[in-house]
Amino acid sequence: MKAIQFLEANHIGVCDVDMPKVPEGWALIKVSHAGICGTDLNIYAGTHPRAKAPLTMGHEFSGVVAQDCERFPAGTRVTVYPLISCGTCEPCTTGNKHVCNTLGLYGIDTAGGMAEYVAIPQDQLIALPEKVSFKVGAFIEPIAVTVHTLRETGFVPGDNAIVFGCGTIGLCLALTLKQFGVGDMLLVETDAARLALARELGFEAVNPMEVNLDELVAKYTNGNGFDRVYDCAGAGPVAACLLDVVKVRGQIVIVASYKKPPQMPFFKGMAKEVSIHFVRVYRQKDFAIAAQMAEKEPLFEKIITHVLPYEEAQKGFDLLFTPGTGAVKVMFEF
Ligand SMILES: [Zn+2]
Ligand SMILES: [Zn+2]
Repeated sequence: MKAIQFLEANHIGVCDVDMPKVPEGWALIKVSHAGICGTDLNIYAGTHPRAKAPLTMGHEFSGVVAQDCERFPAGTRVTVYPLISCGTCEPCTTGNKHVCNTLGLYGIDTAGGMAEYVAIPQDQLIALPEKVSFKVGAFIEPIAVTVHTLRETGFVPGDNAIVFGCGTIGLCLALTLKQFGVGDMLLVETDAARLALARELGFEAVNPMEVNLDELVAKYTNGNGFDRVYDCAGAGPVAACLLDVVKVRGQIVIVASYKKPPQMPFFKGMAKEVSIHFVRVYRQKDFAIAAQMAEKEPLFEKIITHVLPYEEAQKGFDLLFTPGTGAVKVMFEF
């Protein structure tokens, strides 16, 4: 079968690989769609600390159960909860398997879904609701990140919010916030194509290089700052201003993965008695909720800007590495 593999730093290929073995309790999945995540870009660049070549990438994917198994008949349309938890460490045994001490993922630590077939434990399959297409089915994973973000950090309907970064996660978070009953909301992004997409989705989105963000925040919040500040950008200049736009006793949530340690003026956080919260991936329940939300909110699909045949693997990655292409979520079809 064919698989998109990471071969060495800055080198991927569409390779012939063996069909996966299917241990007892697992299911063979015939993959339909698989998305490229920021993590996959790090793997491609050779900077991911755990990914070892040759590796079939992909942890955001959908497909059908290929053969009858104990829990699902053949043909069941599914997406996959891609975490690998040990089950025995302190986080795992206290209900927090998503932050297992040795957390791994399909597509990073072992073969993933950028292939014609992949084997996955049956209890990690999530049946897709009838109205969710395979394309959107491969997009449940990033939506689940944003469901987890809000459920884990005590979001309260009616709170106002500012979201930094209009990539996949920032835009998904804005749509999820809308579904969770957010009050006023402002999105911040510097890339023109991403700003345009945010506006097309119906959001008020600004470029902080073109407006005075502090003045705008004051106008939006009667001078108080936002209740909830979400960082989906992971860039130094963003970290530097998070404490300026949050209200007294407000909350900052770091959703982004920072590659370099940022600087934050902590004295401002102390003065405002701000809480800063970090989130990582998702619980399995967040996936189920994300799948239901995807069924109700057609705008999620608009964040998927490109779907390419898997033979064009290189083009898919190039789209995301090249500035100005307008690519947000790029997927492969198998
Ligand atoms: Zn991902
Ligand atoms: Zn564990």
